[in-house]
Amino acid sequence: MTPDVAAATGYDLERVRRDFPILSEEVHGRPVAYLDNAASAQKPLAVLDAMDRIHRTGYSNIHRAVHEFAQRATDAYETARRRMAAFLGADSHEEVVFLRGATEALNLVASCLGRHVLRAGDEVLLTGMEHHSNIVPWQMACEAAGARVVAAPVTERGELDLDAFRGLLGDRTRIVSVVHVSNTMGTVNPVAEIARLARERGAFVCVDGAQAAPHRPIRVDELGCDFYAVSGHKMYGPSGIGVLWGRRRLLEAIPPYQGGGDMIRSVRFSGTTYADPPAKFEAGTPHITGPAGLAAAADYLEDLGFDAVAAHEEALRALAEELLLQIPGVRILGTAPGKAAVVSFLVDGVHPHDLGTILDHEGVAVRAGHHCTQPLMERFGVPATTRASFGLYNTRAEVERLAAGVRTAIGVFRG
Ligand code: PMP
Repeated sequence: MTPDVAAATGYDLERVRRDFPILSEEVHGRPVAYLDNAASAQKPLAVLDAMDRIHRTGYSNIHRAVHEFAQRATDAYETARRRMAAFLGADSHEEVVFLRGATEALNLVASCLGRHVLRAGDEVLLTGMEHHSNIVPWQMACEAAGARVVAAPVTERGELDLDAFRGLLGDRTRIVSVVHVSNTMGTVNPVAEIARLARERGAFVCVDGAQAAPHRPIRVDELGCDFYAVSGHKMYGPSGIGVLWGRRRLLEAIPPYQGGGDMIRSVRFSGTTYADPPAKFEAGTPHITGPAGLAAAADYLEDLGFDAVAAHEEALRALAEELLLQIPGVRILGTAPGKAAVVSFLVDGVHPHDLGTILDHEGVAVRAGHHCTQPLMERFGVPATTRASFGLYNTRAEVERLAAGVRTAIGVFRG
């Protein structure tokens, strides 16, 4: 962001960075430049404090006791549920299920909606840019039902081929499940349009929002989907906590995911009746402090303002692509207009893992690999990429260090 934009949006990058104590760490004798936010983002003090406060002032197992500590912990947990309902634009907090993360949320939908609706010969339509956590659970559900997974192709720029998607959406399509923002390329999928097309055909719509929630306001009421999965640790919240939003009537209709304490109304050896959602899907002791941390992350993002965050990250993405493309032999994978601040790239003659290691020695943290999107790698005929993903605390100087590190690596490997 230029100083003018910063002034206009009130975005105070130095203050933001002070909120994240880990950013003052050094790595191999250099200040860390953390550009691996799509894998997991760092946590502001507000998030650490929210969880710490429960441990210090009112920790116990939730829901099941009458004593004061249990009451305080339960209040924090249920207040966070209401907060996340508002964050996602949900009608009711009863549509918010706390789970371990986006992976568990997607497994729940595939397993429970799958058992509810999938029959032999049915199809589940995905896209070619899905994360493995939005592929494998559907393969498992399809295998159990005798159904099959179909994937709509991705264009050369890394966009969903919407015409092909329309063509694949047929009478057999029972469920459509798509990623909102690609973790590998940053492509933002037209989820509302996809949901409209799918629902016209009577298909249920599930959205993997793991990479969307840190960058843009999510309004499930406007997207028109049936389920939406969010990951806490990618949106500056704790790890081990995430949200599945689901339409109430569907959460009521589908079977539970796991059995155990807290998800029942009554248990007899002759049979069990289940609690109403969301408790029906929250068997066992949950991440007790996680939701409060996640709610604090939601507050943090909204207090900064998504517009300001997006403008800041977009400036970093544009600078990164400009500097990287000035380097001979660099190619960017995923050039969709309006993409999020994720830059996957390839460097002639330098393997992504070697590049990642050299960048780490320069104090620059990036990710190298297939990013859990092997079908997408296959589509582009590459085994791996190097990925820099930007967050709300990154700086232009860090982007410059990334580009300088790539030049250093080229010097080492190309001589
Ligand atoms: N979907 C996408 C697009 C992701 O990037 C990730 C995390 N890499 C996941 C799902 C899985 O999320 P979680 O870590 O919360 O299980």
